[in-house]
Amino acid sequence: MLADYHIHVLSHGEYKYEYDWLGLFVDKAREQNLGGIGFSEHDELRHLIDFDLVEQIRDENPDIEIKMGLEIDYIPGREEEIRSITAEHDWDYLIGSVHFINGWAFDHPDHRDLFAAQDLDEIYCNYFKLLQQAVETRYFDIVGHLDLIKIWGHKPEKKTLLQYAQPVLEAIKDAGMAVEVNTNGLRKPVREIYPAREIIAAMKAMDINILLSSDAHHPNQVGKGFEEAVSLVRQIGYRDLAHFYQREITTKRI
Ligand SMILES: [Zn+2]
Ligand SMILES: [Zn+2]
Repeated sequence: MLADYHIHVLSHGEYKYEYDWLGLFVDKAREQNLGGIGFSEHDELRHLIDFDLVEQIRDENPDIEIKMGLEIDYIPGREEEIRSITAEHDWDYLIGSVHFINGWAFDHPDHRDLFAAQDLDEIYCNYFKLLQQAVETRYFDIVGHLDLIKIWGHKPEKKTLLQYAQPVLEAIKDAGMAVEVNTNGLRKPVREIYPAREIIAAMKAMDINILLSSDAHHPNQVGKGFEEAVSLVRQIGYRDLAHFYQREITTKRI
């Protein structure tokens, strides 16, 4: 069974939790032959989630499993705040993501130029250190877009991407977390799934659970790129995908 666990109904705040709008996400999931979807807003927008409406949509669409998660920004020093967010609601899962390096929103097109002003290996090193810290908090169930730092196509020079990622993979294994195979990278300049093939292969060798996600910010993007993602993870040897309910993980056949 395929499910898309990374969906932003609100996008970046341009849209609202409204009956017809949510219905479009469910319709698209059905059209894409998904058995489930999960809404995962950015944590700073969580006050705009209408949980009752999600419940209603869930009741009216029993053929699609509808989960409620959250994508949380890991920033050092936010630990206590994150802990309280995790207790605010019975989330089905929490995605931990790093979008900022020392206040720099590196994945934002307006701040892309800062890559040119810094040492690429230092950037990669700092990004993966932050991600490791995020994993080590053990507040999250899923690692969001593990190698997002490659978004604009920059490559490290002194070490390989996998070498930078490896310590984080060990921490993920220790924490028992899952990693999303996020197709959003296919729509970015890097034109690659997050994480890269060699990282997914290393994860398979370590028996780390994966799930698929589109990071949709619009109904049209639900399940987008999943054919390519399924073929990639199958080639690597994955046969099962992780699913979440009330922060418990189960695996089901692809
Ligand atoms: Zn994200
Ligand atoms: Zn996202």
